[in-house]
Amino acid sequence: MILAGLQKNSFIDFPGKISCVLFVTGCNFTCPYCHNADLARGEYPARFELSAVIGFLKSRRGMLEGVAITGGEPTLDKGLFDLCRAVKALGYPVKLDTNGSRPRVLRQLITQHLVDFIAMDIKAPLKDYHPFSQDPNIHERLKTSIRAIMESAPAYEFRTTCAEPFVNETTVESIAKTIEGAARYVLQPFNNRAVCLDPEFNQRRDPTLSVDAMQRLKTLAEPFVKRCMIR
Ligand code: SF4
Repeated sequence: MILAGLQKNSFIDFPGKISCVLFVTGCNFTCPYCHNADLARGEYPARFELSAVIGFLKSRRGMLEGVAITGGEPTLDKGLFDLCRAVKALGYPVKLDTNGSRPRVLRQLITQHLVDFIAMDIKAPLKDYHPFSQDPNIHERLKTSIRAIMESAPAYEFRTTCAEPFVNETTVESIAKTIEGAARYVLQPFNNRAVCLDPEFNQRRDPTLSVDAMQRLKTLAEPFVKRCMIR
């Protein structure tokens, strides 16, 4: 497996831990606001052999507390299981970011104790995924992933990037109902400074929600989940 990026330190990518971040290239979604456009297109902005990554992780024992694996969509890569095994063998907890499109892979990773924390994006109400995925069965796949994560992941969170026109009070309430009882739901403000996968998205009216609007979304979602936060 070739990793497409390695961020040596992060205080924000693995909740409660100082982690490094490994980037896997390739994605099956087309989120207009994606900030990792090169990875979404399957490009390699950098190349790291697995052996080099393992060497790096060995050298950081005692300094790093975990490894976050992100993309792209890491569950598409057949090498993900070996990567997680190798990282776990070094004693690092693994956190995985996913768009939730591959529930079978998520279930296998959980069953084989290869992930310690899963962060799944929920981009819109599940029936409104057409801007993000052309898969006609995505609704069912996402539902299955949500169920698998809530039933059996060691720790997890669901996350929504709050960008107009995809996210508003109605959509967030609908998402919160879909994950009713979830341990943690994170509302992420859209970062308007980054270049997006869809160049036209950058040209539109600012899709960022105001601080007050974000707070209203949190108030709406809070009754449905154990913990809701803006991050
Ligand atoms: S934001 Fe969307 S397109 Fe970009 S990597 Fe994540 S799932 Fe893929």
